[in-house]
Amino acid sequence: MLNFEFYNPTNLVFGKGQIAKLPTLIDKNKKILLAYGGGSIFKNGVHTQVTKALNGYDITEFGGIEPNPRFETLMKAVEVIREKNIDFILAVGGGSVIDGVKFIAAAVNFEGNPADILQKRIRTEKDKSMPFGTVLTLPATGSEMNSGAVVTIEATQEKLTMGGPGLFPEFSICDPETVASLPKRQLQNGVIDAYTHVMEQYLTYPHDALLQDRFAEGILQTLIEIGPEVVENPADYKLAANFMWCCTMALNGLIQKGVPTDWATHMIGHELTALYEIDHARTLAIIGPNLYRVMFDSKKEKLAQYAHRVWNVDEQDTDKAALEAIEKTVAFFHKMGMDTKLSNYTAEYEKTADFIKTRFEERGWKGLGERQAITPEKVKDIVTLSY
Ligand code: NAP
Ligand code: FE
Repeated sequence: MLNFEFYNPTNLVFGKGQIAKLPTLIDKNKKILLAYGGGSIFKNGVHTQVTKALNGYDITEFGGIEPNPRFETLMKAVEVIREKNIDFILAVGGGSVIDGVKFIAAAVNFEGNPADILQKRIRTEKDKSMPFGTVLTLPATGSEMNSGAVVTIEATQEKLTMGGPGLFPEFSICDPETVASLPKRQLQNGVIDAYTHVMEQYLTYPHDALLQDRFAEGILQTLIEIGPEVVENPADYKLAANFMWCCTMALNGLIQKGVPTDWATHMIGHELTALYEIDHARTLAIIGPNLYRVMFDSKKEKLAQYAHRVWNVDEQDTDKAALEAIEKTVAFFHKMGMDTKLSNYTAEYEKTADFIKTRFEERGWKGLGERQAITPEKVKDIVTLSY
């Protein structure tokens, strides 16, 4: 097992009716920025629940944070915070609102050009950010209990990652009842995003961190079991609660401690969203299986373990079991409503592989993945295979 530190200070408040606990989580004298997205919280009653719970607090609302939040929009929130001397941010929404709030929290006290947080990947250290909490309405990203975020710079069409130990939410309220109003497409996305988060931390090479593998396999099996059902019955509390907890556990740091991690599916997928606005999870469904195919030799032992333990494949030949695992994964993605071919999302697909290869070269990303073996040339092969 690799050495690790496990630091996760987020107070996760999980369950039915927990939004009412907000006054126990935010100091009465705080001036709050209530940040949200395109307005779903007004339709499903979450806004009412939040404002009722925070009756008597000094609240300024900031809406309009887009899916795949934009740097340009978030900087407007930074101005509002400075103008009104706000000292706490409450993110109410999905991964985009929470990620957006992480950027805002980092940018408010940043000395210098805030775009550098993204373009120069400047980490936000403890005590360098504005404190914030979240009310999660879309299980998927795990952003409610991690310190990472992904933000798009509209001007340059770049979707970039950021983070640091100063960017854990102080608290996150996860009420599975918020899942009931999610459209099918977002439910499908949530399952596949969480599934791929686990795969990025699990599907590398065999190692001796036995418990982490079992954690990862348990989350994958649970998502396979409940994923198709929760899409049909999001108001079923048992399904919604297990879905929500799987998504949080998939990316709150626990399963990645002591193990190698890949993350190349996400890095390539971000480019597809930046270029064509394809939903995040769908980019992962397009890229993931093709990455396993191109990197087959270095991943086949773990793929075979995944075949045996997650998919109950009997085949004992490593190569055959590994191939079967990739096919089972693609079939699951299809069952979850994912289209896995890039050409079905954009007519301009043919230039994509070269574009992404060049971009990664320009950024100096010489080798991604658990062995830094996913070179720009390999990235090109993976993207080409996804056409
Ligand atoms: P999202 O972009 O936050 O939301 C997608 C849509 O769902 C929005 O239109 C939103 O509407 C709607 N919605 C949210 N909750 C709803 C509800 N309860 N009922 C009805 N509609 C609802 O989706 P997401 O998948 O959570 O976040 C995706 C972003 O997170 C991407 O940018 C991705 O790259 C990033 N990400 C971050 C991490 C991380 O660790 N930080 C990991 C993976 C991905 P409104 O806008 O109207 O609310
Ligand atoms: Fe993701």
